[in-house]
Amino acid sequence: MLNVRSLRLRLAVWYFCTVAAICALAATGYWFSIRSELNRALDQGLRYRLIGLREFLEDVEPGGDREITSRLNEISQLGELYQVFDADGALIAQSRGLARHGVPQRPPRELGLEIRYGAGGTADFPLRLAWQKVRIGSHALILGVADPQRKFEGVLRAFTTVLLLSTPLILALATACGLWLGRRALAPVARITDDARAITETNLSARLAVPDSRDEMQQLSETLNDMLERIEQSFTRTRQFTADASHELRAPMTLIYTAAQYSLRRERSREELADSMQKILRESQRTTALIDDLLLLARGDAGRESVALTGMDAAPLLREAAEQATAMAAAKDISVSLQLEADALPVCANEAQLRRLLLILIDNALKYTPAGGRVTVRGSANSTDVTISVADTGPGISADDLPHVFERFWRADKVRSREAGGTGLGLTIAKQIADLHAAHLGVQSEIGRGSVFTVRLPNPAR
Ligand code: ADP
Repeated sequence: MLNVRSLRLRLAVWYFCTVAAICALAATGYWFSIRSELNRALDQGLRYRLIGLREFLEDVEPGGDREITSRLNEISQLGELYQVFDADGALIAQSRGLARHGVPQRPPRELGLEIRYGAGGTADFPLRLAWQKVRIGSHALILGVADPQRKFEGVLRAFTTVLLLSTPLILALATACGLWLGRRALAPVARITDDARAITETNLSARLAVPDSRDEMQQLSETLNDMLERIEQSFTRTRQFTADASHELRAPMTLIYTAAQYSLRRERSREELADSMQKILRESQRTTALIDDLLLLARGDAGRESVALTGMDAAPLLREAAEQATAMAAAKDISVSLQLEADALPVCANEAQLRRLLLILIDNALKYTPAGGRVTVRGSANSTDVTISVADTGPGISADDLPHVFERFWRADKVRSREAGGTGLGLTIAKQIADLHAAHLGVQSEIGRGSVFTVRLPNPAR
């Protein structure tokens, strides 16, 4: 069934209206130009007859008015429409044809030697008239000739009938053409719609057929396919994330469950119970930290994580973080050093977020660097950027693993990361914070040669 709001029908209606408007304009134009052509032909005929009448009267001169009248009477037998007036406008002679139709017409005043045309006659018998002042011998005369206005009316009527009959036919054809063109033009759209309808979340890897037409339809199919590609990737990422998150949450929950079950199975000593409670506490803390991280990332994904950035100096923040790292590193026999290569590190940032980013990088460096190692926190500034880096002498990251370090839940060594209290989300959160600051977070690393994580923030003074 034809949908009244369909593009196809609307195109057909537009097409119909356009053709109807063109037809109406063309028909009116043709009608008026034909009528003016016919009037011109009528005037031409009148002109020749005026000339004929004058030549005819010139022939009878110098006999006077009597001869003119007799000549006119002679011609009036042929049914011609003539009038002759004297210079004062008094009728001298008139053909019978004119007399019968309630004419004479008064000649116009101020008539010159030029031929003047006009309309006259009665409502039943409209006339087209031509006048001219002539001098024949000693007489100044006004000659008038007339022709029935309706002489060519039959032609005009026939033409009008043809127009009235052919216009609806043309319009009917235009409507049919409009509908057919609409169907042809929109057939690819209907195909794309069918294909797209068949794609659901269960077969997101299916793609639309791309016609090799190098036109808008090909562009549309390719654009939709690109969009499907992005949707599929996002779907896969979300699925993976949900699976990973469930898995990550399951591990501590299993430990909590086992510890509780162990405590309750039979009578336990105070030490055994304390040990179980310690385990439960540790795993609960880990779960809470994981849930906090997940919530933070989810808010970032939803675009709700907007932070107020203010102009500040990052140097004190680096000093504070380095001090904190020194305290944390003491137990592991790792030395921490701070290198500030500028007096001030002007940045536009959110202090709490920037501190968190720094702590994630420092925490990782301390976590993965073995005893005896070294962690260096460095800050420098130039006219365009402020660069903060955290370098360590740890195990490094292989070239194959480097592209994955910022992915959610990715860890080079799952067991080691978990043992060290990692959730696999630290660097993802660090990246999110860097993005919120329009900063670039990158890493350089090589197996056995340590890692350098670098944050490059735009210098607000630039
Ligand atoms: P995690 O909680 O596991 O530390 P992150 O997202 O912070 O999660 O880091 C992801 C992975 O990147 C880590 O598991 C580790 O394999 C690797 N990584 C991060 N920082 C370092 C580092 N300084 N040295 C070596 N490997 C690192």
